[in-house]
This record gives sequence, C-alpha cells and structure tokens, in this order.
Amino acid sequence: AHLDRIAAVDQDVHAFLHVDAEGALAAARKADDDRASGQAASPLAGVPLALKDVLTTTDMPTTCGSKMLEGWTPPYDATVTRRLREAGVVILGKTNMDEFAMGSSTENSAYGPTRNPWDLDRIPGGSGGGSSAALAAFEAPLAIGTDTGGSIRQPGAVTGTVGVKPTYGGVSRYGLVAFSSSLDQPGPCARTVLDAALLHEVIAGHDPMDSTSIDQPVPPVVAAAREGAAGGLAGVRVGVVREFSGDGYQPGVQRAFDAAVRQLAELGAEVVEVSCPHFDYALPAYYLIAPSECSSNLARFDAMRYGLRVGDDGTRSAEEVMSLTREAGFGPEVKRRIMIGTYALSSGYYDAYYGQAQKVRTLITRDFTAAFEQVDVLVSPTTPTTAFRIGERVDDPMAMYLADLCTIPANLAGNGAMSIPCGLSDEDGLPVGLQIMAPAMADDRLYRVGAAYE
Ligand code: GLN
Repeated sequence: AHLDRIAAVDQDVHAFLHVDAEGALAAARKADDDRASGQAASPLAGVPLALKDVLTTTDMPTTCGSKMLEGWTPPYDATVTRRLREAGVVILGKTNMDEFAMGSSTENSAYGPTRNPWDLDRIPGGSGGGSSAALAAFEAPLAIGTDTGGSIRQPGAVTGTVGVKPTYGGVSRYGLVAFSSSLDQPGPCARTVLDAALLHEVIAGHDPMDSTSIDQPVPPVVAAAREGAAGGLAGVRVGVVREFSGDGYQPGVQRAFDAAVRQLAELGAEVVEVSCPHFDYALPAYYLIAPSECSSNLARFDAMRYGLRVGDDGTRSAEEVMSLTREAGFGPEVKRRIMIGTYALSSGYYDAYYGQAQKVRTLITRDFTAAFEQVDVLVSPTTPTTAFRIGERVDDPMAMYLADLCTIPANLAGNGAMSIPCGLSDEDGLPVGLQIMAPAMADDRLYRVGAAYE
C-alpha cells in the first residue's frame, strides 16, 4: 500500500531519492512469515520506513543529496540500518535532504527540492525534509532523520509530524556520513509520539563502533509515552524559555504555542517562565562550530576514495583532479561552509572564532543545567515561522539559518529534544511545532510530556 502511495504522490512531493520496491516487498514477506510462525523480530516487524539518505545501506545508494556521492553504494550498513533490519522494519527507500545535511529547506539537494505535502509551493523543512514529507504525505508511517542543528525537529514542525533528537550518544553515528561530528545525532520521525518511541527503542543503545556512544541503558521511552497518554502531567514542572519569543516569531506561531502551554497547564503541569540568557548566542556559535567540523569531515571527498572523479584523463595531477572534483561535486552551501570552517580553524583565527564559539557552547550547557534545577522540561516553539515558500530564502543564508534559532541549543549541549504538532497557525493554516527539551539521558520525559499533550 505504501509503495502504491509513493507511486501516486512522489512525483509531486519528491520525498524519495531512491525506492527499493523489490527489497521492501522481500523484507515485508519475511516479516509476515516470521509473524505467522510466532517469531516477529520486534513490535515494528513488517512496518515500512523511509531512511534519510545520509545513513549507509549496502543494498541502496547513499548520496547525502550530493553529486559528490552519486552512484556510490556503501560497503557496510550503518548501525541504525542494521538495527532496523534486525527488528524486521521494512526499508522502503532513501529520502531527500539538503546536501550533506546543510540547510533548513531541502532546497540544497543536488537532486531538486522536496515539497511540503500541506502546500506544494512550500518547503518541508531541512535538512531532513524528505523524511518528514514522506510521513506527512502518508508515503511511510515511520522515518529516520539526523539532527545536527534541528534537521529532525524543524522538518517535523513544518510538516505537522513528530521528530525527536535523542540525547547525543544515545543513537549510534556509525555509518552516518559525518557533517559535524560533535553535534550529529540520528533519531526517529513518526506521526505519533508512541510510534516515535517504538522506533527510538529499536535504534538506540550502546554501540562499540561509535566512540561517543553512551554505555547506559536506553531511557524507557515507550513506557513513558504510554504513561503520558494514560495520565496527565501532575507534578511535572514545565519551563517556557523566555528568550524564544518576541521579534521574528510569527504571531500565528506564537498564538499556537501559547495555546499549547495553556493545555500543558490544564493537564496538570506547573508552568513557569525560565531564562536561558546565552541561548541568544547559540546560532552564531553553531555557525562557527558546525562549519569548522564540516570543513574537516568533508576533506575525505578527495576524488580518490568515493563517488565522483572529474578530469582524470592522465594529464592532471592528483591535486588538480581533487580540485576539479570538489568544484563540480559540491553545491554552493557546502562550499560556503567549507570556506567559513577552514577560515575559523586557521592559525591566528582559531582562538578568536572556534575557541570563542566553544566557550559559548559551555555557557549554553550551563544555562540548561541551571534551568533543569528548576524544571523537568523546557518548551518553546520549534521554529519561529511556519513553512516558507520554495525559493524565498535561497539567496539569503542568514534568513535560512534563522529557521534553526530554537533547535540549536540542544545540539550544542547534547541533550534530547522533540518537536510535536501543536495545531495550525491562524494566519496561514500551516502546522506549528511545539519543542520539548529534557536533560541528557532523560529522553523519556520528552515522550511522557509529548504523549500527554498529543
Ligand atoms: N539547518 C541547520 C544547518 O544547516 C541544521 C542542519 C542539520 O541539523 N543537519 O546546519
């Protein structure tokens, strides 16, 4: 049924870069057989899923939305991919994304934009717009995204779906093509909080193949989602982040958010305002740290090891071939980030830019620590505006970066955060996202509060 749905709508939505109908049907038949013999691999055995094209798969290409990796099929599965297969989840295909996960609209994909199913002239968010659009268009009930600065949560918000960035280290990065290694985190995308929790438990947990993977039990997110859905929020303290409102926030977004906060109070939560003064500096710190790490990580695309090779006609040096390949293979946003990052890390500037940004990162972590002494979770709008029009921000990187204003602090500090739908803006009728943030390794709180609200 989902393959039929993809065939019917994906020429308009363009959520997928690759669909593996044969592989999906074979996995589905196996799941059926296992279930018939009473051996279902997991509660999600047989459930279809859309996988962001930044996680490696041995049976499908992995392009990261870039010409650089066109036609490259990886020699190994990401740990997330492996765990999905072991759980009997049916991988339908790979979803569109901003090139190497850099962007907030999926317009930076080398393979053309994904469109928002709510309004095909609008963006589905980014970088994981394909995964969230696939859910909103009912092309898949589950998806995987990755979140470096908001790429699971912001697409979730603007497509009216659920997206969770787990605690950094909670889900393995092995086989996730690196953008900014200290920030990147895979996570679940779904249409309900409980679905996201079930997927979270399949993909999370310690992995010796990822040196930053946390060797602790996975937070009990499924139990928390069930508890939240069954009960209210009595005894839960919710902090509204003061800094994430005012100028730049669409009134329709603000009103939907305010209504959500009132509903949390009606559910029994104790709601207070909390100040996190350094959150205002999260965006500039991120746009130094992420490009710095990206400039280092993307050095591996040297025309020798992966995918594209341009100008290798026997007359040119390896350096010339590398240069021609990187010129042709990377799009404008990726080049901008490599240049900013290379500059920020260069000798003489390192302390002034990268070093300062890392200090700001520590201050933001301290803001979270202080806030979580007063409250159990923090809330804010996920993103200041609803889905903007395709093309509207492509020539204005600063306007594009503002989409991540509220999501970035959790990446810098490493704690978990979730976006869930909180109604439609009364200005344009488009979905608004409620962001919930919890302390590190307390991801279960996100699910309890999210499921109670939902
Ligand atoms: N939009 C942000 C960026 O462009 C976040 C990307 C992400 O989370 N992968 O960097």
